[in-house]
Amino acid sequence: MKTLREYLAWAEENQVAIGHFNISDSEGFKAVVEGAKDMSAQAGLNVPVIIGVSEGERDFIGLEEVVSLVKTARTNDLPIFINADHTYSVEKAKLAIDAGVDSVIIDEVEKTLEENIKLTTEVVKYARSKNSEVLIEGELGFIGKSSKLLDAVPIGVSEKTQTNPQEAARFVKETGIDLLAPSVGNIHGIVKTGEPRLNIERIKAIREAVRVPLVLHGGSGNKDEEFLEAIKAGIRIIHINTELRIAYKEGIEEGIRSGEIAPYKFLAEGVEEMKKVVRDRLKLFNRI
Ligand SMILES: [Zn+2]
Repeated sequence: MKTLREYLAWAEENQVAIGHFNISDSEGFKAVVEGAKDMSAQAGLNVPVIIGVSEGERDFIGLEEVVSLVKTARTNDLPIFINADHTYSVEKAKLAIDAGVDSVIIDEVEKTLEENIKLTTEVVKYARSKNSEVLIEGELGFIGKSSKLLDAVPIGVSEKTQTNPQEAARFVKETGIDLLAPSVGNIHGIVKTGEPRLNIERIKAIREAVRVPLVLHGGSGNKDEEFLEAIKAGIRIIHINTELRIAYKEGIEEGIRSGEIAPYKFLAEGVEEMKKVVRDRLKLFNRI
């Protein structure tokens, strides 16, 4: 079956983006798997999907456990991959690589550019020394930190802090990363006012300056047309987290309100709600 790198080339060729969904438990996993299967059946092709686990999420579900879940489920018909999302230390990135993830994001964006380059390079070198297929993603430009509902755009996020294309070119060249997460008007979480908008021109400029696929973080809350424009401009992976979290919570609340006490029944309502988000997003990102 195709590797994640091969699927990224496929996405480039077909001008689509691969959906990346964060989970923290087996219900989230079930929702992504079933949602991806539904969309594959509808599209008549095997739609690739990435499961993401942040440091907190992987501590909860277990790193080895989630890698094993994904690898066991993976077949030609279900091209599912596992990404160690925002990893804030070289040490934890190495642990994720050793555990057998398909990709790792080393996030040193709060450090100086020099420090970010140094630490990111260290992870790339380690990955290459392991002779594995693992892809390394670097991040440049601040996009906020927490995936939740926000009253306002986080402090430190503005057009000035968006990724500079020349700096991106240098960052990619010096570190040797496989994927780049830029700051292009995207933020983690959903801002109630609907701001900010994606900076499509900036995405195009970065894409022209670097050869690696671009990853859009903080996809929750953006409008459908914005996503389509971003994909056209060069985005090849889109992260969805906050929307899933809200859907899960609302589903479970509904299940509990009904008086149900069997976990597999009230949790199932959370799974159903998450599945709707997964299906909608895959449909849009893959133009199904
Ligand atoms: Zn992110």
